[in-house]
Amino acid sequence: MEVVLAERRLLIDCGLFQGSRTLEELNHRAFAFEPGTIDAVILTHAHIDHCGLLPKLVASGFTGKVWCTPPTRDLLAFLLPDAGRVQENDTARRNRRSDRAGEPPLEPIYTERDGSQAALRACDIPLETWFEPVPGIRARLWNAAHILGSASVELSVGGLRLLFSGDLGPEHKAFYPDPVAPAGFDHVICESTYGDQRHKQATIRQRRTLLQGEIKQAMALGGNLIIPVFALERTQELLLDIASLLNAGRLPRVPVYIDSPLAGKATEVFGRYAGGLEDMGQGRIFNHPSFHYVESSTDSIALNAVSGAIILAASGMCEGGRIRHHLWHNLARTESTILFVGFQAAGTLGRTILDGAKRIRISGRTTVVRARIRQIDSYAGHADREGLISWIEDRHPITGSLFLTHGEARTIESLRAELAARGAAHSIMSPDIGDCYHLARGSAATLIKGSGDEAREAIGSDWRNMCESLLANLKEDLKALPTSAARSAALQRMTDALAGPQS
Ligand SMILES: [Zn+2]
Ligand SMILES: [Zn+2]
Repeated sequence: MEVVLAERRLLIDCGLFQGSRTLEELNHRAFAFEPGTIDAVILTHAHIDHCGLLPKLVASGFTGKVWCTPPTRDLLAFLLPDAGRVQENDTARRNRRSDRAGEPPLEPIYTERDGSQAALRACDIPLETWFEPVPGIRARLWNAAHILGSASVELSVGGLRLLFSGDLGPEHKAFYPDPVAPAGFDHVICESTYGDQRHKQATIRQRRTLLQGEIKQAMALGGNLIIPVFALERTQELLLDIASLLNAGRLPRVPVYIDSPLAGKATEVFGRYAGGLEDMGQGRIFNHPSFHYVESSTDSIALNAVSGAIILAASGMCEGGRIRHHLWHNLARTESTILFVGFQAAGTLGRTILDGAKRIRISGRTTVVRARIRQIDSYAGHADREGLISWIEDRHPITGSLFLTHGEARTIESLRAELAARGAAHSIMSPDIGDCYHLARGSAATLIKGSGDEAREAIGSDWRNMCESLLANLKEDLKALPTSAARSAALQRMTDALAGPQS
């Protein structure tokens, strides 16, 4: 989100497009503005969909500061170089593919070095403290209760009052008090990720009981409990709950491997700020004697021979990282359990497993699924519909426009309709990527320039993952048809569909 003020330019967040591979291609496009003309960035939090294009911004000529909270600065120090490393590795892998033979090599969006350079731009400011990121614009950060260091951004610009929610945390979030911010704004920009959903409102105590049950059942089988997690936040929430269960004697001693160097580093930052975190209870948490932080890939591979352990590995939706080799070694074992504790987006490997696929392709190889597939869906990182509505209503009066962002189109529409029915703001906007608005005091925002097509089309399901899933199950699905005539007919229909409409 770019804010322009009489020759001053401020950017709120600078995220990497994430999700389907089609959507990720947007990251290669040039910025819609000249990076060298941006005076400063205010960053709401260290998730890659908010900070992941900062290295590209810096590499393209941005020389200002990136304002954020102290924990966010500490997280950026290793997350941004890591994001660069991921870009370099992905690009190298794609360049090696045989179907690219003879084509010019692809360039990474940015490198590890670009990531390190961008992290050096971070400048920390505590919550609820006014600062002036650029002359004439005053800003304050407010606890958003979403992940460690997350904040909403309040701006005061020549009498105009603006608030950017950033990502907002749910009720019953471990570690943080509920989100806060002042009331009375001209314009509010609010996220809508779960604007059409109601979370199961489990308390921390209820979640721990669910987790205790899952761990006990999995351990009773003698196999491993594999938990795909994101390195930042969900890992630490689980470690908090597992350590608390162990400390309370509610679980037998079980080795817990945190097989993600990134998760290890993020946990260190949590340790650094532990004094200010809620729900930590008594006893050792992140440095619990049962916890083993796995660094080297040799040690990670050694876990393939382990049984009767809990293994947390990234990525949370199984799209990359060490979780893939743990899935490969455990999916076919009847005594293993795969436990999902996070949202699995459509088209991801995690979603395919959770949806009950009997065969899974991982990095070009197929395995059968015999492991138990389980889910706890009461861990949440975002506010749900009710949470968003009450956060918005607590900001009243909003005399200009309320912008709904950061959600799928139908989610935003559902939330918009509900907010309109409640009279939450007299003007509710659902901006498209690339839209440009004029913001005035006390009156509805006006669209200066629309975006046209752009990225809208790219935001949808991903044909590549659908293809992988189809290929993995094709022979089995064909065999399941009653006759060979039916199998031939199905193949003929697919062939015809691929030939497209005939003229
Ligand atoms: Zn986030
Ligand atoms: Zn986000």
